[in-house]
Amino acid sequence: MIYSGFLGGSFLFALKRELGYTNTQEVERRTSMNRSALHKISYGLYIITSGQDGKFNGQIANSMFQVTSNPATVAISINKENYTHELIKLSRRFVVSILSEEAPMTFIGLFGFKSGRDVNKLQNVKTKTGQTKVPIVLDNTVSYLEVEVDKEMDCGTHTIFIGNIIDCDVVSDAVPMTYAYYQKVKGGKSPKTAPTYSKEEPSAAAAPQAAASYVCSVCGYVYDPVKGDPDNGIAAGTRFESLPDSWTCPVCGADKSKFEKEK
Ligand code: FE
Repeated sequence: MIYSGFLGGSFLFALKRELGYTNTQEVERRTSMNRSALHKISYGLYIITSGQDGKFNGQIANSMFQVTSNPATVAISINKENYTHELIKLSRRFVVSILSEEAPMTFIGLFGFKSGRDVNKLQNVKTKTGQTKVPIVLDNTVSYLEVEVDKEMDCGTHTIFIGNIIDCDVVSDAVPMTYAYYQKVKGGKSPKTAPTYSKEEPSAAAAPQAAASYVCSVCGYVYDPVKGDPDNGIAAGTRFESLPDSWTCPVCGADKSKFEKEK
């Protein structure tokens, strides 16, 4: 169910490919850099939808920013392996839904850790269509931007699409989700195809002294007994061992047996 990651080979190989370097010594020097510096970059959390002629999909993205004000343009960075990438290439349009802090992990997991080639992600989600005819996700959305692609840049594993906003609107007054909030409060991780994915991404929460945290081996979600899983009725302070057998990973839906004790 998980997308195959761009760090499929060795870390060194992946970095070399990512940076476009051919000089091995230079690459080795780069691997000694402190990549945790990258975790200080701030982002939001968005759903990007795209498609045409009845074929639509959506995915989570954290790499979106406004490029110019007049005309109003934005840029997004999308992994070439993702189905949404294929649909943007085809339709030359996309919609950005800016998520609120209230978006539950199951919702983020649906768009972040499952492939649109396997499941119809938009089936049970509230949407509407506007100027681009691309479904605009309205659940847990603060505002949305409808975009027509104007330029694109090949960046190796990813493509940066730059486009003109042809329509946009505010959906709710809720607080927009930042990527830091997603990581720290929600315990979220990057999918392997995210530009920000890193194998050594630190766990969202330090392991508590008394009760252990457990990691989902499928998606990397960390169950922290200190926080519980309030989105699914599990109170803070509930040990992993005490979770009901029916409990599943709030992000990817894997059952308890797929969890391993965090080291
Ligand atoms: Fe999971």
